[in-house]
Amino acid sequence: MRQMNEIIDAVLNYHPEAEVGIIYDAYLYSAKAHRGQSRQSGEAYLSHPVEVAYNLTRLKMDEKTVAAGLLHDTIEDTLATPEEIEELFGEEVYRLVDGVTKIGQVSFASREEKQAENYRKMILAMAKDIRVVMIKMADRAHNLHTLKSVSSEQQRRVAKETLEIYAPIANRLGIGWLKAELEDGSFKYLHPEKYQSIKSRMAQGEEETKNLLNTITDEMKKELKAANMEGLVSGRSKHIYSIYKKMINQEIDLDDVYDLIGMRVITDTVKNCYALLGLVHSLWRPIPGKFKDYIAMPKPNFYQSLHTTVSGPNGQRVEVQIRSHEMHRVAEEGIAAHWQYKEGEQSKNVDDHLSWVRHMLEDQKDIKNPKDFLSSLKVDLYFKEVYVFTPEGDVVPLPREATPVDFAYQVHTDIGHHCLGAKVNGKMVPLRCKLKNGDQVEILTSKLKFPSRDWLAFVKTSKARGKIANFINSREREKCLDLGRQILEAEIRKYGFNPTDTLKGKPLEEAVNACGFTSLDSLLTSIGYGKTSVHPVVDKLLPKDSLQEAKKVAADVKLSKKPRARGTGRGLKVKSFDGNMMIRIGKCCNPVPGDPIAGYITRGRGVSVHSKDCPSLIALANEAERILDVEWDETRTHPFQTQIAIVTDDKPGLLAKISNAVAGCDVNIIRANVKQGPLQRAYFDLSVEINDLDHLNRTLAEIRRVSGVIHAERVKEYGKRLGRLKPSNELESLSGGKEAGIN
Ligand code: MN
Repeated sequence: MRQMNEIIDAVLNYHPEAEVGIIYDAYLYSAKAHRGQSRQSGEAYLSHPVEVAYNLTRLKMDEKTVAAGLLHDTIEDTLATPEEIEELFGEEVYRLVDGVTKIGQVSFASREEKQAENYRKMILAMAKDIRVVMIKMADRAHNLHTLKSVSSEQQRRVAKETLEIYAPIANRLGIGWLKAELEDGSFKYLHPEKYQSIKSRMAQGEEETKNLLNTITDEMKKELKAANMEGLVSGRSKHIYSIYKKMINQEIDLDDVYDLIGMRVITDTVKNCYALLGLVHSLWRPIPGKFKDYIAMPKPNFYQSLHTTVSGPNGQRVEVQIRSHEMHRVAEEGIAAHWQYKEGEQSKNVDDHLSWVRHMLEDQKDIKNPKDFLSSLKVDLYFKEVYVFTPEGDVVPLPREATPVDFAYQVHTDIGHHCLGAKVNGKMVPLRCKLKNGDQVEILTSKLKFPSRDWLAFVKTSKARGKIANFINSREREKCLDLGRQILEAEIRKYGFNPTDTLKGKPLEEAVNACGFTSLDSLLTSIGYGKTSVHPVVDKLLPKDSLQEAKKVAADVKLSKKPRARGTGRGLKVKSFDGNMMIRIGKCCNPVPGDPIAGYITRGRGVSVHSKDCPSLIALANEAERILDVEWDETRTHPFQTQIAIVTDDKPGLLAKISNAVAGCDVNIIRANVKQGPLQRAYFDLSVEINDLDHLNRTLAEIRRVSGVIHAERVKEYGKRLGRLKPSNELESLSGGKEAGIN
């Protein structure tokens, strides 16, 4: 097993000021926690965290990260508790260990290629601190080395996840060696035959390759000396997975992959890089179209080099890379090349560094100065996003604070439109709850459920917002068209005509045009919205003389009716509709201002308004498309009729006392019934006019104060008159002393 000294020395080598005591402590703690455990390979378990810590030194991580590497499996696999880790090693180390544990708990089912990018982002978003990702990659690199001792199913799972998630992250972070190690390590288990065939093919030509490399590197060195230039020349063979990718991308056989080998020349300055390129091209003939200048145009992960392919001494192709020492460091270490370990130096521009990392990860092309370094390791990556799972395991990216409704619309418009409820991680949650990274979200739908205006208050995605608004608008247009038709037909019937006969042919067309509309539907919609009054339309539609006659009749009918307070729509307005609609108050529940209400589009009689808890409205719930949002108009005062039931002692003069109390509240009594009941009780049934719920409650309070009054309550259900109440029921509720029925 690797010695601790090796790890400590490595840290002190790149970070002489490091406080390595914490690494020793972490080692001792880990050794104790994992005592008696062994890996599936049979080795002592401790060898794993030690190797992970060693990998972290290869990534030039700070001492706390190395310590966290030693502890990374303790919470998950041993009796160690989070509290203990935090107490012994501090919050920072605990957060790192906790972060790695959390990522480890998310299971990445095998997925389509297009999902991989979302997985990567989710990991980065979950990690918050880039060092957590570093530990996870260091962990993975060692796991690949010991993969041969686990089941083949597990081999494939780990290998696929590494190849699709972690190797690309290593690439984004510019860590060349780690990327190559992760790729080859997983490729070996994912495609064993292909891996072996490329490997043996490379071994076959090894002697040949070596000779060729020796020849060209010798020649190169000679030329450098002659030109008096500095340059480190080395031969290199590509890693196996990169050759495989070349075969796939260019659709060629292994035999046709020419540049299995390459030569790398490292020099001091950028200027000398180009000078060396000239030298190389003068020695060997360059292959056209193979030159790439990554110095002028760095890769998104800041990789810089000159690449060219030349025809070697015997005509074999050789890829040549030319770069400076600094470029080499960045190519191998990537993000780690930008760590800076200087005492007391704080970054003045943390945001710059954060965006630097983000640019690097997001594959963007605009390049800032690669000399920028990351002195603060705390990076809240992708802080504006949250990644959640579908029940099938697909990842859905959403903006932060997104809700199940956003998720539903992201998955499919129809799911959004019929979204009834949501389960997060198997538990029912409110539709407005905020989703968290890694949540598994399931949407329950119903064909009878439609988008609600309330959703607009909490959805976060513009997609959901747009779809909901569209749906509501078109629904309202439909409702208005329907309502407009009913209003017009009712008006036509009122004059004794048949709407079906009237609403057709040339006269209709002319009337529509005369009203300034191009189609009957747009006219009807406008009537439904209340923008157009129905009377001028009827004037234009029906024959003048019959209209005169009929008008008279209509007027007579109107006059013969007693003016009533109830049944008018004053004091009400329909949400998002303007103008005057035909609105009536439902007789069944008599809602008053303050009661939650909804409107129902009747057939031909406008909108009737009911309490939301009115049984007759609930009975109409399957006609959801006829239900309208309505609200009380606070600006208008108009009395509403409602019923009050009172139980009293049967004493004379109580009606007068109650009338006084009611009148004192500025309330009109329209009708009063008194009935004598058993047990010396009298039952009063009042119809009164009140302004709103407050007014009603104040009045009820006054009534209850009258001596002799035992109980007073609002009667909401039509028909629930006192005469029908069973005295025994009434007494039961009275003895309970509760004031039932008062909102
Ligand atoms: Mn591990």
